[in-house]
Amino acid sequence: MVEGNFDWTFVRIETDEGIRGLGECFFAPGLTCILRSLEPLLIGEDPCDIHRLFRKLQLATSGAGSVAGIVYNAISGIEAALWDVLGQWLDAPIYRLLGGKFRDRVRVYADCHGGEALESLDEVLRSRAASWEPQASAHTARDYFGEAGGGSPASPEDYRRQALKKRAEGFTALKFDLDVPGTEGFDPHNRVLNNRAIDQMVSLIGAVYEAVGKDTDIAVDCHWRYNASDVVKVARELEPFRLLWLEDPVPPNNTAALKEVSSKVRVPIATGENLFLFEGFQEIIAQHALSIVTPDLQKVGGLAVAQTIAQFADVHTMPVAPHNISSPVGTLALAHFCAAIPNFLAVEFHASDVPFWNDLVEGLPAPMIQKGFISVPEKPGLGVTLNEDVARRYARKDEPFFE
Ligand code: MG
Repeated sequence: MVEGNFDWTFVRIETDEGIRGLGECFFAPGLTCILRSLEPLLIGEDPCDIHRLFRKLQLATSGAGSVAGIVYNAISGIEAALWDVLGQWLDAPIYRLLGGKFRDRVRVYADCHGGEALESLDEVLRSRAASWEPQASAHTARDYFGEAGGGSPASPEDYRRQALKKRAEGFTALKFDLDVPGTEGFDPHNRVLNNRAIDQMVSLIGAVYEAVGKDTDIAVDCHWRYNASDVVKVARELEPFRLLWLEDPVPPNNTAALKEVSSKVRVPIATGENLFLFEGFQEIIAQHALSIVTPDLQKVGGLAVAQTIAQFADVHTMPVAPHNISSPVGTLALAHFCAAIPNFLAVEFHASDVPFWNDLVEGLPAPMIQKGFISVPEKPGLGVTLNEDVARRYARKDEPFFE
């Protein structure tokens, strides 16, 4: 487990033929404990039977999370590592195993947070001193889930500056948070906004649009904080900025609320990063409660599950824009997936403030993201291996290192 801006948790599968497959899981409390529980179920198995092994792990954890939950964070990393094994064994890149590619380069959008560097967050979203900064630096802990508040209000100038910076780096799509200091309503718990908060959101995104909006797609994220009627007010005010999408307006697992928002605004609504398996997406897609589908491949159940979701979304004419907070390992697995689906829009990049992000892997030219795109690798399997020296340097000290 490497301490990046999030905990990047890796799975390594070793075969009796000397092949090592690498996968990545979305962070979760107790995740490595779950992985160690699953390990005996894989020993002695044929790693090429990816779908069967997925079903085996799914049935084994049926009591612990048959429909959703962090067992799928673990299974997603294992499944990805199996694809890497199979690709190396067949001497084929993962995208080819997924049916071949629609594109050679995958478009990446830059997550610009609240116009400032994202802090390093632990597994329950508390900010911590970043592993790559001098330990002596004072760190004021802040709860990212927004209860404790804190931080000075986000400013339009910060948003504008960050937009221009990311545009200059070559990104053609950017995403900014709406739920930042200065946009709280009167009560952090009741999902209600007020006019002052809405005006502040409009001024933040307006600054981005003025700076880069003519040639750059702009998305915004609400992190499930608002009630349907208030987020409709926000979205309508933001319509002049022709947003690429508005993400997670209302709490997940409420199709009716999502559909209410989608039906009342002319901004595409995106959701999906905290949904699991095809079943998590089936109803919202079939009912057109959203416009853009955003599964997280390190959590949703793996590449094959995500491909099923993407195919279903494509039938319903919806693009897929995968959520991504991972290291280059998970990001490259995403690149294979994004190349192999027709309805790909853009994939997230969340770690531009982590100085060792590119150094974590070996085997491909760095940086992995160039001018806002990732070139889909032609090497067998995933296409990279973990740089274990770098991984050890930034590993969480309280977690095992491939024990
Ligand atoms: Mg999001």
